[in-house]
Amino acid sequence: MQNVPKVSFAIIGGSGTWAGDFPESAGFEGVTVLERGLEFETPFGTTVPMKLAEISSALTQDRSPRRFLTVPFHGYRSLAPHDNPSEQIFWVFQQAGVKVITAEGSGGGINRLLDPGDIVIPHDFFDMTKRPSNIHRFNKNIVRMASPTCSYLRSLLYEKAGREYRRVFSRGLYANTEPPRFETASEIRFLAGVGCDICGHTMVPEVYLARAIGACYAAAYLVSNYAEGVEDPSWKGSSIFEHYADSAAKIGRVTLGVVAAWDAEKCGCHCGENIIEVPDQIKNRISS
Ligand SMILES: [Zn+2]
Repeated sequence: MQNVPKVSFAIIGGSGTWAGDFPESAGFEGVTVLERGLEFETPFGTTVPMKLAEISSALTQDRSPRRFLTVPFHGYRSLAPHDNPSEQIFWVFQQAGVKVITAEGSGGGINRLLDPGDIVIPHDFFDMTKRPSNIHRFNKNIVRMASPTCSYLRSLLYEKAGREYRRVFSRGLYANTEPPRFETASEIRFLAGVGCDICGHTMVPEVYLARAIGACYAAAYLVSNYAEGVEDPSWKGSSIFEHYADSAAKIGRVTLGVVAAWDAEKCGCHCGENIIEVPDQIKNRISS
């Protein structure tokens, strides 16, 4: 078991990089893996193996080497409902002092303007999961979700993704449904009715755990298929893996490029203003 290294950046790998070995096969010159197989013991169980990597000073915004932790496939070891992969990796991020988190994944396009191969960078989310939240284990104050994703991080993702993909959308409403099954056509009609653009399984709880640990967060999702009932009822599903294979290196370069480009002085975001401090006399009445 390992001690948690101190780092400011983290990249959560998802289905976008499923088909490759991240960061090694992203084709991003100047990134070095310092340690592999880092498994950390947490109050929520042992993490999957993480990597500690470094982007060369020649590429970073402040011209000093930039280290980050990265975890594959959102930390999933199993899809069992008692598994808490997000809590495991965010516990590590909190110990590490991570302040900037980018994630990637894939999802079904609900909005009829979306096609497979597009990239959506959501500005907001709609939580349809049934799992209990563990946010109180990370922060006992009130965590606001007025603007849950970091506007500056989203702008960097948009810029970097625009170099790799044909169509990139700088905002969108992400519906997080309950994994691991896909949605019914009726559920998709409901989600479309409340304005959701894309559905997936991983933005929750990452997005609110990031805020709870005081980190900026934004994610880019590859549209891997049309959501049920949106298009082509003869679709068999296997084409999602073709999109994953095509996307692995590209989305990897996007997240690495964002970490390299992050500029604390240009950021100007309001992510850190979304914690409402609970007075001690109230906090002391609440047990964990
Ligand atoms: Zn921010």
